[in-house]
Amino acid sequence: MIDKHYIEKILAAGKNPTKEEIIKVLDKASKRKNLNLLEIAMLLNAHEEDQVKEIYDIAGKIKEQIYGNRVVIFAPLYISNYCVNNCKYCGYRRDNVFDRKKLQQEEIKKQAINLEKLGHKRLALEVGESPKETPIDYVVESIKTIYDNSSIRRINVNIASTSVEEYKKLHDVGIGTYILFQETYDKEAFADQHPKSLKGDYDYHLHSFDRAFEAGIDDVGAGVLFGLAHWKFEVLSLITHNRYLEDKFGVGFHTISVPRLKKADGMSLEDYPHIITDEQFKRLVTVMRLAVPYVGLILSTRETKEIREELIAHGVSQISAGSKTDVGGYHDEEEAHDHDQFELSDERSVSDVNKDLIDAGYIPSYCTACYRKGRTGDRFMSLAKAGTIGMICEPNALMTLTEYVMDYGDQELIEKGLKYVLEHAENIKNQTIKEKLKNNIFKIIKGERDLFF
Ligand code: SAM
Ligand code: SF4
Repeated sequence: MIDKHYIEKILAAGKNPTKEEIIKVLDKASKRKNLNLLEIAMLLNAHEEDQVKEIYDIAGKIKEQIYGNRVVIFAPLYISNYCVNNCKYCGYRRDNVFDRKKLQQEEIKKQAINLEKLGHKRLALEVGESPKETPIDYVVESIKTIYDNSSIRRINVNIASTSVEEYKKLHDVGIGTYILFQETYDKEAFADQHPKSLKGDYDYHLHSFDRAFEAGIDDVGAGVLFGLAHWKFEVLSLITHNRYLEDKFGVGFHTISVPRLKKADGMSLEDYPHIITDEQFKRLVTVMRLAVPYVGLILSTRETKEIREELIAHGVSQISAGSKTDVGGYHDEEEAHDHDQFELSDERSVSDVNKDLIDAGYIPSYCTACYRKGRTGDRFMSLAKAGTIGMICEPNALMTLTEYVMDYGDQELIEKGLKYVLEHAENIKNQTIKEKLKNNIFKIIKGERDLFF
């Protein structure tokens, strides 16, 4: 699927794009037409200041057209840091010596309730790989515990690559997106970073989504850990992987995550010559918005508030908020902090993230309607491409924001949030939807919950 020589040849061919070439590619991108790999390479290589600005502008416009001003909010939940793998970049790798921990079901229930108290409805469940300590049945039981004991409505799952049989179990328990990062598409870098471990099999890892699709999962999220190999190579490889799945299964990635390597215990950033600058990072996110316009682009709290805000304006559609990356990190009170997987750069509370988003004109969205109405996989993509999904997304987002501010907001957030929601409801063009939405907003203020289109 990934031919390194071929991708490198494309990158070389698109190394010095002319002004005319870039104008042509950007014109195509602004019409949301499929860009080929050479065109994407040209955008990654564009160096004139005005061209870069144009890439940012068009990425911002496309984001607006597809997602309006909505930003989906979620939180990661780490339930175990046992790991048999030895990924050189990760604080949880097996060579790092510390007291390992896995949560019992009662503790998972408590975490879910604490996340609910922060207003979260969507989680990304994170687990180290340990067939003995955290077999698939433990993961499945944990998912049931969360769904049964909290108002968390969607659990995306980020667990190690596994078999069709185990993916079937994940599918049957009703996960949202199955997320797995390739880490790097460069085979040599992959081997170097994953010495002697289950995760070290590049081809098995690369074909994880094939097995997930075979098991009935139709909603997958990819990612690259930027900093392990050359970033332009990783971007073209991600796009190639996406197109491979589209061709083979009729549906590509639902989301793409773009984690950048952070300092973690037992590793030094100095050992990574491919660490990318902020400018390179912004370029790859904006180019990805042009190359895969309908994909949800996810930015975590590995990035600073400033970078997150800038990239929300130019392509990012989902962010985590109030995240903890230690096992059982969502405490009632000031309990001791456990071993983090890596360092974070945005430690604002969920409430502060939401206030900042509203002030900047965005709608923090807690919507999970598509997943619950079965609008996933190719069904979701065809609605997204036809533009019809957008008509109901904004009202849904406004309803979930109303619910959030009523249930979890302080006085400032309630006032700010309701004013904002009512103003936005007035701007909805479809009269029938507008009336129904306004009606629902008042129902939510009076106490009804979980209304959606
Ligand atoms: N253990 C599973 C796996 O590795 O696929 C699932 C989750 S792991 C907890 C989540 C992700 O964290 C990894 O895929 C990796 O990309 C990321 N990660 C690990 N170490 C990191 C670091 N130092 N900086 C940033 N991200 C890191
Ligand atoms: Fe384990 Fe995942 Fe960390 Fe690798 S990245 S050591 S598999 S937790």
